[in-house]
Amino acid sequence: MTDDILRQYLSFYRDLGVKNLYRAAAPAVQEEIAESPQVGPPAQNSVVSPPKPVRSPLPELHPSDDTLVQIGQDIGDCKRCRLGEGRKKIVFGSGNEQARLVFVGEGPGADEDEQGLPFVGRAGQLLTQMIEGTAHKEGIPLSRADVYICNVVKCRPPENRTPLPDEMEICGQFLYRQLMAIRPKAICALGSTAVKALLGTKEGVTRLRGHWQKWRDIPVMVTYHPSYLLRPYNQNAKKEAWEDLKKVLHYVYD
Ligand code: SF4
Repeated sequence: MTDDILRQYLSFYRDLGVKNLYRAAAPAVQEEIAESPQVGPPAQNSVVSPPKPVRSPLPELHPSDDTLVQIGQDIGDCKRCRLGEGRKKIVFGSGNEQARLVFVGEGPGADEDEQGLPFVGRAGQLLTQMIEGTAHKEGIPLSRADVYICNVVKCRPPENRTPLPDEMEICGQFLYRQLMAIRPKAICALGSTAVKALLGTKEGVTRLRGHWQKWRDIPVMVTYHPSYLLRPYNQNAKKEAWEDLKKVLHYVYD
């Protein structure tokens, strides 16, 4: 960690009113994942060896009685990382604040940056169709407004590039707090950036998808990011993503 990042960390925690800091027990995260590779309902095809974890970039610190409103206020006009320089609007997240299911994507694109809302472009429309279409087919009364949707980073990376590790680490603090404030029954990680942030692994979505993982004590289903599914040659991936979503919806809402 560079001095610059350390300084940003400390000022972030000072903003939260945190006065005492302790060294994080990083290995505990690894053990937790390694000991609990499979959670949620058993399924025949869900047995997979656990991902090789590295340290999750989400820090383990949050104020007690945290709320989404408080987190939004703490973000303020955030410039804690370089992504703050080029954004139009911070995309905090949207949906039911007491959602039983949270979707975590990578970061805002151009449409999201304009509107300040997550997943409103083409990929977002596909995600809405997937959530509502799958729920309808499976007889689960659910609309997009019933779930919560957010991203690992809250500002649009230039040229829609993948967020860099330090950006994920700095902004991941807000994601951590959002998840701890909502405490959903399950999380759906959309794509490799969300996987890295939540599970701390570099293993690919193709290998992890369809199988239950864990973030702290919350089951995580990994699946493809909707923007990947929009590519015309990914029809198989589309079918797999629908299957993943079916598993999540039944686990959360049955
Ligand atoms: S990406 Fe996150 S940490 Fe970086 S400026 Fe935006 S809100 Fe702040």
